[in-house]
Amino acid sequence: MTENSCHRSYDELFVGGHWRKPASPQHLTVISPHSEEPIGHAQAAGPEDVDAAVAAARRAFDHGPWPRMTPGERMAKLDELAAIYSGHIDEMADLITAEMGSPRSFSRLGQAAGAASMMHLTLAVARDFPWVERRRGVLGDVHLHRAPVGVVGAIVPWNVPQFLIMPKLIPALVAGCAVVIKPAPETPLDALWLAEMIERVGLPEGVVSVLPGGPDVGEALVRHPGVDKIAFTGSSATGRRIAALCGEQLKRVSLELGGKSAAIVLDDADIGKTVAGLKTAGLMNNGQACVAQTRILVSERRHDELVDALAEMMSGLRVGDPADEATDVGPLVAQRQQRRVQDYIRSGQREGARMILGGEDSPAERGWYVRPTLFADATNEMRIAREEIFGPVLTVLRYRDEDDAIRIANDSDYGLAGSVWTADTAHGLRIAARVRTGTYGINMYMLDISSPFGGFKQSGLGREFGPEGLDEYVELQSVVCNGPMPPL
Ligand code: NAD
Repeated sequence: MTENSCHRSYDELFVGGHWRKPASPQHLTVISPHSEEPIGHAQAAGPEDVDAAVAAARRAFDHGPWPRMTPGERMAKLDELAAIYSGHIDEMADLITAEMGSPRSFSRLGQAAGAASMMHLTLAVARDFPWVERRRGVLGDVHLHRAPVGVVGAIVPWNVPQFLIMPKLIPALVAGCAVVIKPAPETPLDALWLAEMIERVGLPEGVVSVLPGGPDVGEALVRHPGVDKIAFTGSSATGRRIAALCGEQLKRVSLELGGKSAAIVLDDADIGKTVAGLKTAGLMNNGQACVAQTRILVSERRHDELVDALAEMMSGLRVGDPADEATDVGPLVAQRQQRRVQDYIRSGQREGARMILGGEDSPAERGWYVRPTLFADATNEMRIAREEIFGPVLTVLRYRDEDDAIRIANDSDYGLAGSVWTADTAHGLRIAARVRTGTYGINMYMLDISSPFGGFKQSGLGREFGPEGLDEYVELQSVVCNGPMPPL
């Protein structure tokens, strides 16, 4: 590994706790989305490396000490890891900003500090978790044992890379699983730095591997018969394919997928506070957030006032170098993503939405920037209202009455998140109960990383965070006994 502030490079993969050269070297250059210059490199894994990592994980799980230790012993090791990690939050945030362009303010809180908090919260949940319990059954006392699910393949995207590794890695490890992490090719460096921290803690041989690479590496992991469970975050299209492949082997799978969340602005909402809230809820991480509140629903009565206030907020956003503390919107992760978002902006115009602000032309000579763009007079049939754009684009739609607002909010293939903005929070709670999404916010949208998070409909299967997030990494074993059950 070579290191220079947020420029890091790795010539080896982390396989079962050891650094080793890939079987067939394949260079991954990480390009700054701001400067378009290389900031580091890593090696992509290939199928033989997946075989080696899964074989090491299998040995660790089937014969090694890790699953046989008590949860408390494993927690002590993970506490050490959390302490090391917590000492590097600012540098980790800077590295993620350099890799994928997240504005520094968001990287600190939403990327690195969020990941560290998740480690601590998962360990707190594990302390109170019912690893074994007794229940009264029809045959007498039943001993209920929560056993680790086995070898886990954790596949994550680039948008909040550490924040998405942690709710897979930490609950899996605390449960006694062995884990092979497959980071996205855009963000291998933060994951390999985490591997260095794991190496310092000294987990038993084979328990963790980190194999950066693209879809081929991910798919080799999914297909591998030595993997018991896949935990995936990414697009619904990839999730559908992974679920089908897991189905062939009846492999356990949890999926955190895309979203197209609706923010319902009720007539009694405070427009100033709503727009201030939507600045983060709609545009966090340059709009590259699965939970972004990008469909903004408003009635005729408050429509013009809301659109004017959104336009004013968005025209004041500072677009630029994500390493600058004052930046609101940085570049998108890759040129491919910039083009995709520009294509959505063209499609909105083509389909007849009114572009209030922004546009498809790039605001900078260098870097994969997109202008914050606001559409009004859109309908829910347009692509900009149905598909996940993953960029700084907000779309305002009109509703007739409250039932119509709820109908539009629910008229989506996705069901990840949503929000309502109102002076009457009890009314907000009644709206929440009618919207088919896994999380919901009243006068805000944020993830509560101690509460279950996941999607209805095509936004996923399963939940992360809290005790429900730990449930995803255990199998329930019921033990009955002919005669009295020995004491716990
Ligand atoms: P993606 O599905 O293309 O890739 C995600 C990961 O899967 C990457 O590591 C990629 O290399 C890997 N991958 C791709 N094809 C694969 C295959 N066939 N088999 C195995 N692995 C494969 O997603 P993306 O475009 O990189 O990421 C953005 C998507 O992630 C958005 O749709 C976003 O909504 C979603 N996301 C969801 C959540 C959530 O918690 N629900 C959080 C963040 C992002």
